Amino acid sequence: MKSFSFTILILCFASNVISQINHHTRQDTLRGSITPEREWWDLTYYHLSLEVKPDEKYISGKNIIKYKVLKPYTVMQIDLQAPLKLTKAIQNGKALKVKHDGNAHFISLPDQQKINTQMSLEVYFEGHPKEAVRAPWDGGFSWKKDNNGNHFIATSCQGLGASVWWPNKDHMYDEVDSMYISVTVPNGLMNVSNGKLMKVEKNNNTNTSHWFIANPINNYGVNVNIGDYVNFSETYIGEKGDLELNYYVLRDNLAKAKKHFKQTPMTLRAFEHWFGPYPFYEDGFKLVEVPYLGMEHQSSVTYGNQYQNGYLGNDLSGTGWGLEFDFIIIHESGHEWFANNITYIDIADMWIHESFTNYSESLYLDYHFGKKAASEYVIGTRRGIRNDKPIIGPYNVNKSGSGDMYPKGGNLLHTIRQIVNDDEKWREILRGLNSTFYHQTVSTQQIEDYMNQKIDYDLTAFFNQYLRDTRIPILEYVIENGELKYRWTEVVDNFDMPLQVFVNKMNQWIYPTAEWQSIKIIGTAIEIDPDFYIYAKSE
Ligand SMILES: [Zn+2]
Repeated sequence: MKSFSFTILILCFASNVISQINHHTRQDTLRGSITPEREWWDLTYYHLSLEVKPDEKYISGKNIIKYKVLKPYTVMQIDLQAPLKLTKAIQNGKALKVKHDGNAHFISLPDQQKINTQMSLEVYFEGHPKEAVRAPWDGGFSWKKDNNGNHFIATSCQGLGASVWWPNKDHMYDEVDSMYISVTVPNGLMNVSNGKLMKVEKNNNTNTSHWFIANPINNYGVNVNIGDYVNFSETYIGEKGDLELNYYVLRDNLAKAKKHFKQTPMTLRAFEHWFGPYPFYEDGFKLVEVPYLGMEHQSSVTYGNQYQNGYLGNDLSGTGWGLEFDFIIIHESGHEWFANNITYIDIADMWIHESFTNYSESLYLDYHFGKKAASEYVIGTRRGIRNDKPIIGPYNVNKSGSGDMYPKGGNLLHTIRQIVNDDEKWREILRGLNSTFYHQTVSTQQIEDYMNQKIDYDLTAFFNQYLRDTRIPILEYVIENGELKYRWTEVVDNFDMPLQVFVNKMNQWIYPTAEWQSIKIIGTAIEIDPDFYIYAKSE
C-alpha cells in the first residue's frame, strides 16, 4: 500500500534526501538486483510454517522452497533480515553449508542441479523479528493488544521486504506460483493469512491454521494476522461467478463491521467494471482487521481505518468526495488489480501500483457517484503533489521514487483519459492491462508500450515528462486580434500533448508543441479543461 499523508510525505522526503546523500550499499544491490545466485532458479512453491509466541515476541519455523532449475549452478541466495537467524538449510536430507552476508544467505548445493528438474530445500529460522514502529511504512511485526487485553499482531513489509520476517527469494521479479502457510498461535487467538482456510488443528495449548494460496503472490503480500477474531462472510456474484467474501474482525467490532463493510461488494462491483474480473477468485477475498492503517495483502486486504469514511476520517482531496468512501477499503482493494495482479519487477516502478490505485479511488466515485464527482476528487488531490523528484526511482537497489506517485500519478492517468477522449475505450485499456499482464510482474516500459499501442497518440514524451521529470508543462498563450497563440514550456523534448480548451463555452482541441502556433478564435478569452494536469500562463 503506502498511502500517504502529509506528515508521512515529509518523512519520506527527509529519508529520500538521506538516501541520495548516501551511496547505495552492497546490501542494497544484493536485495534489489537479480543476482547470479537468484537468476538460475525459478521459484514454484513455498510451504511456510511458523510458530508465533506473542509473550516473548518470538517466532520460529521453516520454509520449504520448491524450484525449477533454469541453468546449472551451485549456490542459492536466500534472504532473511537480522535480527532473525537462518539456522539451518537442508536438501535431500543433507545439511548445507551457508555463507551469511548480512541479510543475504548463500547456500551451497552439493547435489546436482539438473536443468528443468524440480528441486526442493528447507530453510529453518528463528528469533525476535524487527518490530514495526510506524506500520505499514517501516514494516515488520506489530505486537499490539486489543481493548480486551488480547494480543493483536500483524506483519507488514512492503519495500523493506518479506525477508524481514521469513526466509525467501526476496525480489519481486519471481513470484511463487502457489503457497501454503501454516501458523501456530496460542489458544484463544487465531491466525488469518492469504488465500483459503484449509483447516485449523488443535494442539495442547496452541492451534495451527493452514492457508492455501492457489495463485502467484507477491512476497510483500504474504501476511500473518493474529487476534481474537470473529468471522462473517457473504457471496458476491461477480464477472467470473461466485466469489466468497470473508471478514475477520475483532470480536467487539462485529456489529460495526457488518454495517461498514457493505462498501466491499460496492468496491468490487466498481473495480470489476473498470478493471475486469477480480484476479484471484480461487483464493476468495478477505478484509482482515489489523492494528495499523492497512495494506494490500493479496486476497487478505488488511484494514485499520477505524470503521469510518475518508483516510482516518480525512478527505485527501479537500472536495468532500473523499468522505463518501472508506479510503482503506477502496484503495487497498484497488491494489488487487494494480500491485497484486500486475506487479512491479523493481520497486523503482512502484507508480504501477500506486498511481493506478490512486486513480481507482476516482473510478470508484465515477461508478457510484458519477463522472463529475470523480473528476473533482482527482483534481482535488493535486494539493498533495510536491514535484520534488521524479516518480520513477533508481533501478536495482530496492528504492522507490517520489511519493508523487500517488496524487500526481492519479492525475497523470486522468490526463491520459482526456487524451483518449473516449471513456469506453479508456475502460477497455484498463481492462486490457489486467488481462494482458494477468498475474505478471512488469516494468514501466511494458505499460508504456501497451498504452502506446492502444492509444492514437505517442505517449513516450508524455511519460518522460510526468514520470521522469519534475516539471509540469506550462501552456503559454496570448490572445490578440482574434488569434490564439500558444506553445508548451517547461517540457521535455518532443512533448506535444493535445489539449482541450473552451472558447465561449465551445470545446476546441489544440495541438501545442514547444514552438509558437496560432489559430483564429472568436472571443477574447479561453478556458482550459481543468481535467488536464498542466499549468497555464497568459500574457
Ligand atoms: Zn497503495
